[in-house]
Amino acid sequence: MKSTKKNNSRSTNVYHITYSREHSVGCLYFWGCNLRCKLCLLKKEAFDCHLPETRLRIYDPSYESERPTRFLTLRKLMLLLDPLSLKQIVLMGAEPVCDPILPRILAFLKQSKDCSFVLLTNGRKFPPLSMVDEVIFSIKAITPALHRDYTGVDNKVILRNFTEIAASKSVSLHVETVFIPDYVDEDEVLRIADFIASVDPAIPFRIDAYLPIQGLPWRAPQAHEIQSLAEKARCMLPNTSCLYGDEGKTELAYEVERIF
Ligand code: SF4
Repeated sequence: MKSTKKNNSRSTNVYHITYSREHSVGCLYFWGCNLRCKLCLLKKEAFDCHLPETRLRIYDPSYESERPTRFLTLRKLMLLLDPLSLKQIVLMGAEPVCDPILPRILAFLKQSKDCSFVLLTNGRKFPPLSMVDEVIFSIKAITPALHRDYTGVDNKVILRNFTEIAASKSVSLHVETVFIPDYVDEDEVLRIADFIASVDPAIPFRIDAYLPIQGLPWRAPQAHEIQSLAEKARCMLPNTSCLYGDEGKTELAYEVERIF
């Protein structure tokens, strides 16, 4: 009993939790990553960008996010999630798989919540597939030199892990990438689409628009550029979508609240 109490006082990498009451979806944000992306979105916003306080500031080109300073113990995480009705838990942030106690967190949640688990990952470390239902895999680039320049590491292991996850057929697998004109440009995004199609053309693919980060030279793509790119990607991957900001003009479909 004593050792369980002690284990539960161990710190997790979780620094932020948000919740949609309407959809019973909770998002856990994990700090720490095994890539060093020069365009890391967390530099722009480390906290959920659907909250009333964060929603518009991401469009301010001079805004830079604070880094988290508080992390939850396993015990506190349990206490915060306990009263919430949850149909789905999304593990995201930086890289959840880098948290050494992720399997314990998942084991606890699976015991206490009858819900599905979605993991967002960069794929460098192989995820605990048997504990999640869906994986959203981020592929930064296919061209090795570009991938090294972008993330600081080679992409061989990442692409191999992706192929293995797809071959396992044990989870629902989705891919997302960020379109950055003049960096991860149209040709590179189509190379990513081609790679995914070579693994399985039925895999859903989402192309996100880059949001400019202070001090970096790249611009955001225009709506017509990303739409036309998605159209081209659909020739290889019929289930391609794209996501781009509208500077907060559209109302959010549902409210998101901060739990921590
Ligand atoms: S993988 Fe994601 S969290 Fe990690 S450095 Fe790259 S953008 Fe940031």
